[in-house]
Amino acid sequence: MPPSLSSIAVIGAGIAGLSCARTLRAAGHTVTVFDKSRGPGGRLSSRRAPGAIVDLGAQYFTARDPLFQAELTHWLDRGLVRPWPTSLWRIDAQGWQPHRDTHPRYCAVPRMSALTRHLAEGLELVSEARIVDLERRPSGWYLQDDRQHRYGPFQRLAISAPAPQAEALVAAHDAVLAKACHRVEQLACWAGYALFDTPLPNLEGVERDWQAAFVNHGPLRFVARNDHKPGRGEQGESLTLLATAEWSQTWLEQPAERVADALYAALRELLPASVQPAAPRLLAAHRWRYAQPLSGAAGPGFRLGQDGLALCGDGWLGPRVEDAWCSGHRLAQRWLAMPQRDHAASRSQR
Ligand SMILES: Cc1cc2nc3c(=O)[nH]c(=O)nc-3n(C[C@H](O)[C@H](O)[C@H](O)COP(=O)(O)OP(=O)(O)OC[C@H]3O[C@@H](n4cnc5c(N)ncnc54)[C@H](O)[C@@H]3O)c2cc1C
Repeated sequence: MPPSLSSIAVIGAGIAGLSCARTLRAAGHTVTVFDKSRGPGGRLSSRRAPGAIVDLGAQYFTARDPLFQAELTHWLDRGLVRPWPTSLWRIDAQGWQPHRDTHPRYCAVPRMSALTRHLAEGLELVSEARIVDLERRPSGWYLQDDRQHRYGPFQRLAISAPAPQAEALVAAHDAVLAKACHRVEQLACWAGYALFDTPLPNLEGVERDWQAAFVNHGPLRFVARNDHKPGRGEQGESLTLLATAEWSQTWLEQPAERVADALYAALRELLPASVQPAAPRLLAAHRWRYAQPLSGAAGPGFRLGQDGLALCGDGWLGPRVEDAWCSGHRLAQRWLAMPQRDHAASRSQR
């Protein structure tokens, strides 16, 4: 890869890494994004199953930040996202109630990962490249992946992997950044999913086409009907079953099959005995070891390190899609506002 004064590497093609990369590229920089997965998305992940597309990570997102709201308007105009859920319920010990609050929610069309796929368009993305080692030389940063491929030099390097994973990469280069990573607590989440041949039976007192529900007791915290999301076409009934952080932590090392069974049993508990669904044709679970940071973080929403190294992602701002997007965008803006020569001295600005 030819060296260039404005050559920048971004590790992680989740929404934070992509928003960072797009902002930098729009300003004329040469940006290369690396991700260990087959495609972009990170925790905006969707899985194709026979006859269904299941969102496994974030089910929807909100928009509080003005810059993110402006981006959302653009996505809405282009038909990339639509409001969802519009029939949202809350399940607690008293039963099912409509859930109303002041936050409009949105999901990507026709699946959550379509948004990050759109954001990755036009970017140089190196997929299936798990970066395992960094090297800093006078010419810049060099990255090595788990297949012994080497990339670089890059004048700047943004790492948008969840903080515990970023820590392993920066530990040998920047003790202050490593310590900051260590302090970020990312909570786990088991995401179960169930596919059915027939629609769920109707529930008395609940809209026939209910789309999603917050759950306030038992192992589950959220249930989403994937086929009731916009743009899904003619898909069969499929549910995503998100477990609470506490339950997920307790079950973290359990086999996925056992977890899927337990989450499905928890779903059945939420339904009256008279309206139990038919047995699912497919039941599975995905483990997110670093699903969401425990809390929001004070500060600018990213961390600057030495020699053009920086961290972004939800762990540096808050536990939502919009936080992750803002984190990546703000890091890019900060870099764009800094003269190139200031990077070596950037530690003092943290
Ligand atoms: C189950 C679940 C439900 C959620 N629900 C919601 C919700 O309802 N609303 C909401 O707003 N948010 C929700 N979130 C949170 C939201 O999904 C995240 O905050 C956001 O997607 C994080 O984006 P990110 O870019 O910071 O990180 P990620 O999306 O995790 O991106 C990081 C990327 O880095 C890559 N990577 C990591 N290490 C390496 C490496 N060494 N080399 C190369 N690549 C690497 C990963 O593959 C990944 O693609 C949910 C998350 C989960 C898991």
